[in-house]
Amino acid sequence: MRIDVISLFPEFVAQCAAFGVVGRAGERGLLSLHGWNPRDYAEGNYRRVDDRPCGGGPGMVMLIDPLRASLQAARAADPAPARVVYLSPQGVPLTQAKVRELAARERLILLCGRYEGIDERLIQAEVDEEISIGDYVLSGGELAAAVVVDAVARLREGVLGDAESAVQDSFEDGLLDCPHYSRPIEHELGSVPEVLLSGNHAHIAAWRRMQALGRTWQRRPDLLDEASLSKADRKLLAT
Ligand code: SAM
Repeated sequence: MRIDVISLFPEFVAQCAAFGVVGRAGERGLLSLHGWNPRDYAEGNYRRVDDRPCGGGPGMVMLIDPLRASLQAARAADPAPARVVYLSPQGVPLTQAKVRELAARERLILLCGRYEGIDERLIQAEVDEEISIGDYVLSGGELAAAVVVDAVARLREGVLGDAESAVQDSFEDGLLDCPHYSRPIEHELGSVPEVLLSGNHAHIAAWRRMQALGRTWQRRPDLLDEASLSKADRKLLAT
């Protein structure tokens, strides 16, 4: 998968993606990440990428042309069609389902804003979708882009080993994940639940399901409305 990041600080996103499984995915060629800096495409001695907002008011707005030229350069670097995503607090919320959708694509171009954001005309003309990583405002889109790169890359085939498989993770089946334990079995902070030591895979699976249901009910009951629950799950939740 190829991801191009258009940003005034493309190295920031590259650094975030340089560690752990995502870093290894890069080394193994499963993810190729490319940065494009609009400043490199800006005109004049000052290589200006922003200007005052029309109509007055605080802050600056990112200019159309340096961004557009960066987008054109990114597109031209690979003929495969790319989905252009603008990271924005006004976008659709990033969910695991959205991450899966993005991970199924071969190419993404992530557009990071700064200041008050990007000139609306560029968004209208070039952006396929806007994605938000939460109801708060960051100073720039780079952190949000790094979140997208990480979440998407780990879902690509071959990135996670079996031991790190994503299928049991929170949100994958609509529920939160169950708790996890490792050695030592006995510790001053507590013991590992007996069932996990039983070797009985059916009991372990049932316990994990129960824990996942219980946690979701306690912490994120809103998720239960959308989760696909069996009759047994519903019976358990009703008790
Ligand atoms: N004036 C904008 C607004 O209120 O919608 C906020 C601009 S913000 C200071 C600068 C940039 O940070 C945005 O253009 C966007 O790229 C990024 N950003 C901020 N919050 C974000 C969020 N929650 N999700 C994704 N990107 C965000």
